[in-house]
Amino acid sequence: MDKIQMVDLFGQYKHIEEEVNRGIRQVIEGSSFINGPDVKLFEHELGVYLGAEHVIGCANGTDALQIALMALNLPDDAEIIVPAFNYVAAAEVVALLKYKLVFCDVDPQLFTLDVEDVKHKITKKTKAIIAVHLFGQAAPMEQLMALSALYNLYVIEDNAQAIGADYIFNNGAKKKLGTIGHIGTTSFFPSKNLGCYGDGGAIITNDENLARVMKSIAGHGQSKKYFYDRVGVNSRLDTMQAAILKVKLKALDQYIANRQLAAAFYDKQLRLVDWLSIPVRASYSTHVFHQYTILVNSRDRDKIKNHLQEKGIPSMVYYPVALHKTDAYRYAGIENLNASETLTSRVLSLPMHTELTEDQLMYICDTINTL
Ligand SMILES: *Cc1c(COP(=O)(O)O)cnc(C)c1O
Repeated sequence: MDKIQMVDLFGQYKHIEEEVNRGIRQVIEGSSFINGPDVKLFEHELGVYLGAEHVIGCANGTDALQIALMALNLPDDAEIIVPAFNYVAAAEVVALLKYKLVFCDVDPQLFTLDVEDVKHKITKKTKAIIAVHLFGQAAPMEQLMALSALYNLYVIEDNAQAIGADYIFNNGAKKKLGTIGHIGTTSFFPSKNLGCYGDGGAIITNDENLARVMKSIAGHGQSKKYFYDRVGVNSRLDTMQAAILKVKLKALDQYIANRQLAAAFYDKQLRLVDWLSIPVRASYSTHVFHQYTILVNSRDRDKIKNHLQEKGIPSMVYYPVALHKTDAYRYAGIENLNASETLTSRVLSLPMHTELTEDQLMYICDTINTL
């Protein structure tokens, strides 16, 4: 049995090696490293895959959020709701742009925004919600979009962890995550479900006006070379990364299927372990398992992690601290973020990637079963 890894990017590369190498070589031969043809092609292909009108490549997923927020051109005193149990990016861009950061709690089983708490935290100054589709499944978008309509709020979907997942509306209609809110953002960080071989990101929208503004912001605020309409940033998706992403996009559904198979294996083997709970699926979303995150309910999570490590099984804690408990974001204050805090001491993400073998999965599950 090969050594178990949290992610296995080299193993994944071996299946697409020739096509990726050819893509990289073509970029080098064409020497159009910046804004080369593959960037437009990939943006188009991702738009078709997602069913979105506009996809704009940028340098990373954090920039994507920043550009999205800049494009909304909110008043200086705007309040923006973001989950407290989350990666730092959403809170960071709100703080950087000097809007008021309002942390919201998450559902203790689904790990995504708790709609009841969102309702509590909406004020007259609330202008946007950043909904994060954590670990591979959707935040409750239908309810959030209803609040958006009621209170005239923008919704940005941070889809760095759930690209390819479907939202299932009450009436049975389906849409890809990232295409439901006013703007969707994603990251192509290597370990993401659709990852490149460096940094990359994208912004997604069906709003033509927002698309035009975001494209301009990502390119120094120009609409025409050397004529600046607004203050922008420099955030581009490299041509070489786009060439790699074109190859990997074709495999994305297979990658998702592999992750779902691994998750089903874990579910079956771990369902009856009394000290943990397996991930709960939202009724309104498919799950693309960026992470397979269990809750350690009645044991010491960190001890479990160490035991696994001793048996050659890596695991990770996403996330070990709620954002409002960190030095940088404490200023935003605490109001009813109990679930977020509890989760930080219980979550444990098991190895999850496209190359896990049945032997490896069995070994992991057997080990957990005998702990
Ligand atoms: C990875 C990630 C990001 C940021 O992506 P970068 O490309 O590293 O900037 C943002 N939000 C979430 C939820 C992420 O997981």
